[in-house]
Amino acid sequence: MTGKECIMPADCCDAPALSGIDQVLPALLIQARVVGEVETVPITAALGRVLAESVTSSVSVPPADNSAMDGYAFAHDDLPGDGWLPVRQRICAGDPVTTLAQGTAARIFTGAWIPAGADTVIAQEQCDRNGDRVHFTAPARCGANIRRRGEDIASGDVVLKRGARLRPQELGVIATLGLGRVAVYRRLRVAVLSTGDELAQPGEPLPEGKIYDSNRMTLIGLLQTLDCEVIDLGCIRDDLEHTGEVLRTAARQADVIISSGGVSVGEEDYVKAAVQRQGEIILWRVAIKPGKPLAYGQVAGTAFFGVPGNPVAAFVTFCLILRPFLLRCQGAENVAPLVMHALADFDWPKAGKRREYARARMAPDEQGEYRVSLYPNQSSGALSSLTWANGLAIIAEGRTIRRGERVDVLPFSELLS
Ligand code: AMP
Ligand code: MG
Repeated sequence: MTGKECIMPADCCDAPALSGIDQVLPALLIQARVVGEVETVPITAALGRVLAESVTSSVSVPPADNSAMDGYAFAHDDLPGDGWLPVRQRICAGDPVTTLAQGTAARIFTGAWIPAGADTVIAQEQCDRNGDRVHFTAPARCGANIRRRGEDIASGDVVLKRGARLRPQELGVIATLGLGRVAVYRRLRVAVLSTGDELAQPGEPLPEGKIYDSNRMTLIGLLQTLDCEVIDLGCIRDDLEHTGEVLRTAARQADVIISSGGVSVGEEDYVKAAVQRQGEIILWRVAIKPGKPLAYGQVAGTAFFGVPGNPVAAFVTFCLILRPFLLRCQGAENVAPLVMHALADFDWPKAGKRREYARARMAPDEQGEYRVSLYPNQSSGALSSLTWANGLAIIAEGRTIRRGERVDVLPFSELLS
């Protein structure tokens, strides 16, 4: 790597002081290229996609004043001293708009349009009905229980901005505007491969000396949570030529390439060298634990990430760094997960040089206060720690923690969607 290509301040790759995630992430996000193509999809197929155009309402929601209650609609000024009104109409949700006969009340149901001439609705629980007359047992404020035309969304409002990721509620809002289709960025194509001569495939017998390839499955699942189009390039041997060939294929097909393993400093780590032959490594190593030997670069112009082989490190680097990068490539504006706070149910006596992301479980205690405990085995190979945990406790570089202190925690619910 040459100094001019490096996106990181001062010799990030060789200096003993590694760049922290607070420097690495913004620098990477600047490099993230949003997919160019836009497509219009039915709203039933748009969950998880990113809006390519802001959505402006051409209608009012609700479209007319309507009743918020099952009850009686009337004109507040018509209310006689004895509180009794004749009931002459019955208006259900979905009925065309009507006019209230003067000096009467209309039986009305939730969602029904308010008849012209009425200005107040009283809930049926506050009424006595006697034949075709109704008596109000509680005072009614003028204008009560009416949902006003356009009070939710006014015509002309920019309801959703370009770059919004479509959750069920955004789809609901688009539907309520009457739109059946929506313009979104095309799905990001991400090629995934694992590297390692020691890897056997699940479903096959395990030869001596081998372990099963778990990272590819984890990575594919993580990509599916982001609604990426996954190109599964399988598992490849620790071999420079072969790695190079597969990377070339990946670069032709994908917007982003992710490989696992082979990015450390061992003699059998060929990935960096293979990338450098047809592109460049722009960043290598981040001051986080687990996950230090993360590599970022490009292969024939296609963005490349090499995540560490250790399964927890692969998962953590994806969640912390690749996830926001990929979201940005998808066009998403907001890529930062929310952080929770909880009280430590553990001591962390030894300050570390790198920021640690410890597998953690949060749960409320009897007082409803959230406490966080740590999985006993924090090895970056202990994959089962991730199934026990519901988040990652963030332990800042240089920090020690005493039981009862507040700790930041990244909940998995924020990272896995
Ligand atoms: P590496 O980064 O290739 O040196 O691998 C570091 C550790 O992670 C080694 O113990 C590997 O066996 C293990 N590892 C690498 N790739 C995978 C994978 N796809 N699934 C599970 N473990 C892996
Ligand atoms: Mg390896």
